Amino acid sequence: MNDIAHNLAQVQQRISAAAERCGRAPEEVSLLAVSKTKPASDIAQAIAAGQREFGENYVQEGTDKIALFREQGITGLTWHFIGPLQSNKSRLVAENFDWCHTIDRQKIAMRLSEQRPGELAPLNVLIQVNISDETSKSGIALAEVDALADLVSSLPGLRLRGLMAIPAPEQDYDKQFAVCQQMAVAFSALQRRYSGIDTLSLGMTDDMEAAIAAGSTMVRIGTAIFGARDYSARQGQ
Ligand SMILES: *Cc1c(COP(=O)(O)O)cnc(C)c1O
Repeated sequence: MNDIAHNLAQVQQRISAAAERCGRAPEEVSLLAVSKTKPASDIAQAIAAGQREFGENYVQEGTDKIALFREQGITGLTWHFIGPLQSNKSRLVAENFDWCHTIDRQKIAMRLSEQRPGELAPLNVLIQVNISDETSKSGIALAEVDALADLVSSLPGLRLRGLMAIPAPEQDYDKQFAVCQQMAVAFSALQRRYSGIDTLSLGMTDDMEAAIAAGSTMVRIGTAIFGARDYSARQGQ
C-alpha cells in the first residue's frame, strides 16, 4: 500500500472510531479529501484507493485538476470548492464544481445561481459561518444565517444543503467540542426550517473527533491524507 492509501485507511478508522464512541454510524460521516496544493498524481493515488470526493481551495488550480481527470475519462468524482470565493471567479466554480462550501453573501449566491449551466444539476451549496475566528473575514454570523438561507433556497441554480465552518485552531478537545456543538445547534435549526438540509461540513485533521462527536456529517481532511502542504509554489497566484 502506498502512503496515501495507507493514510486514507487510517483516517477512515479515525472517523469510524469517533462515530462509534458517540453512538453514530460511521456512514453518517463522509470524508472529503482536501487536495489543495497537491499534484494530480496524489489525487490519482487517492482515487485508486477508492476516494471519490475532493476539496479544492483555489479556483484555477481546482478547475485545472477537474479538467485533467475529465480528459482522462475518469468519472464518478465529486468536486467541492472550499476556499474563499471572489465574485470575478464565481463562473469557473459554477461551471466546474459540484459543491461550494463558502457561501457568505447574497451577491456570490446570486452570481453562482445565474452562472450555473442549465444542463447541470443545481450547485450544492453550504452557508459558511464564522463561528469562532474573529480574525477571519470568511463566513457570516450565526444571526445572519436565516436571511441568507431564505435567499439561497429561492435561487434556481443552487441547492442549499447545510452549513460549513472553519473554527479557530484550538488544541483542547473540550473547547473544540463546544464550538462544534454551536454549529450543530444551528444546523438542526436549519433542518427544521428547510427540507433537504443534510450536510454539516465541519472538522479537519486536528479537530475531526470533536466535530464528529458534535454531529458533523462531512469532515474535510488534507494533512492526514496527503501530508503537510508547501505553499511556496503558489506565490503570485
Ligand atoms: C486546508 C483546508 C482543510 C484541510 O485542513 P487539514 O488541517 O490539512 O486537514 C479543510 N478545510 C478547509 C476549508 C481548508 O482550507
